[in-house]
Amino acid sequence: MTKWRLRYYGDPVLRKKSEPIEEITDEVKELARFMIDYIDNNQGIGLAAVQVGVPIRLFILRDYIPSEEGQWGVSDPKVFINPKIVWKSEEVEADTEGCMSLPKLTVGPIERPIQVKVEALDLDGNTFIDEREGINARVSFHENDHLNGVLHIDRLPPDVRKRIESDLRAIKKKYQ
Ligand SMILES: [Zn+2]
Repeated sequence: MTKWRLRYYGDPVLRKKSEPIEEITDEVKELARFMIDYIDNNQGIGLAAVQVGVPIRLFILRDYIPSEEGQWGVSDPKVFINPKIVWKSEEVEADTEGCMSLPKLTVGPIERPIQVKVEALDLDGNTFIDEREGINARVSFHENDHLNGVLHIDRLPPDVRKRIESDLRAIKKKYQ
């Protein structure tokens, strides 16, 4: 049995503000590997550590890459430790989002800046800056929100949020 498991909407840990990572220990590396396996086995694109019950500032994601045939591929996994949004565009766009902690609930419109620069450490402790746009910017805003205890549903227009209240209650009940 693994020590980590996916946490669902209603679990109080999802509302915690994640702590900075002081040292990239073997446990942190093991956690990152677990999270990458998790998204790959569950058709996910990104996951924050707090979503498997560990409120530390780490998320992982893969980038969507458009292929010539009009299909989407994905990049190798990227690990972001202590990420900081160092720049974002003023221009925003609205789209729908899903979240592994709220299964089968794709909701919108959620406004996000269309471009972002994220600075973070990789698993070796090296600083990198990732320039992201469109859907890939959106994924990093979504994951970064998790580190601050914020869920995508918090960013819905109030009338939409109201409309999905029964879906949220159902998720809470199913996974409590
Ligand atoms: Zn999420």
